Amino acid sequence: MRAAVLHETGQEKLEVLDDIEAVGFGPGRVRLRIRATGLCHSDVSAMSGVLPQPAPFIPGHEGAGEVLDVGDGVTGLSAGDRVLVCWLPACGDCPSCKRGQTQLCLAGFMNAGTPNFKRSGGDVFGFAGTGTFTEEVVVGAGCAVPIPDDVPFEIAALIGCGVTTGLGAAINTAKVEAGSSVAVIGCGGVGISTIQGARVQGAAQIVAVDPVASRREAALRFGATEAVAPDGLADAKQRITGGEGFDYVFEVVGKSATARTAYENTRRGGTLCVVGAGAMDDTFQVNMFELFFDEKRILPSMYGGGDVLRSYERAIALWRAGRIDLESMITHRVRLDGINDALDQMRTGESLRTCIEI
Ligand SMILES: [Zn+2]
Ligand SMILES: [Zn+2]
Repeated sequence: MRAAVLHETGQEKLEVLDDIEAVGFGPGRVRLRIRATGLCHSDVSAMSGVLPQPAPFIPGHEGAGEVLDVGDGVTGLSAGDRVLVCWLPACGDCPSCKRGQTQLCLAGFMNAGTPNFKRSGGDVFGFAGTGTFTEEVVVGAGCAVPIPDDVPFEIAALIGCGVTTGLGAAINTAKVEAGSSVAVIGCGGVGISTIQGARVQGAAQIVAVDPVASRREAALRFGATEAVAPDGLADAKQRITGGEGFDYVFEVVGKSATARTAYENTRRGGTLCVVGAGAMDDTFQVNMFELFFDEKRILPSMYGGGDVLRSYERAIALWRAGRIDLESMITHRVRLDGINDALDQMRTGESLRTCIEI
């Protein structure tokens, strides 16, 4: 079957090969036919080595499709079911799951070091234990979450990562209050979802901050009340908050420099919510005086910062009610052969989400 493979960490292009086999089917596992997958920034970060991932690997973790086959012992799923791919499946049994913080369950990572694919040349891993830039993948049953019939595959795919991450940061983690002031630094697919979450929560001002003009324009369509380049943030802070700083600032880039900017633009007693996925050698610094004296809440948010299945359900409910716009987040569409075009569109900031139809 066909799949897009990164041969070595650090390479910029994927190769679409047709000699890939999905492996690992058996008890507790399901075989999926991927129909649509989004390109998430984490895929690019894994390719460049910012996020740890053994190579060669098939990127993609934001996908949806149909169940082809279920292994022994799998309940609640059968062939033909429409599902989205959850790259962080909850075991239901660990302390995090029992607290309702399934986004912190580590059980799924146990499989991340096991190859999901092979070809004549040897083993091939799947990113984050999934790997959706492929026609078929075998995953644990917990990675296949049934979706209602009215949710198209491409919408379900987005809910599988970017939308859940961004919405959840505003709703679950920061719990944005009605009437508050918000700034969102980084307006790709996750940042746009954060903006939509802040709007759903009733924020009065939402300032989108991004160096790319097309993303600033997009942010205004999705609920930002204004959009500025990074060098316009200081002025926006002065105008909107009288210089005090925003009630909430979301860092959706994953770099210490932007996290520091976010910290400095958060008001005393306000909330800095860190959503971006960054590198292990990039350190965020706060001095001990400012830490206690300014009482700013620093709240990281991983995969929506709450129960993952509940976050999916909420995203679907908000989408169905017309309270969030997911269709318009898909700015580009390609077939698997166009995957390198999709990567270019993401690196230049031209796309919010590129949907890869498989
Ligand atoms: Zn667990
Ligand atoms: Zn992602």
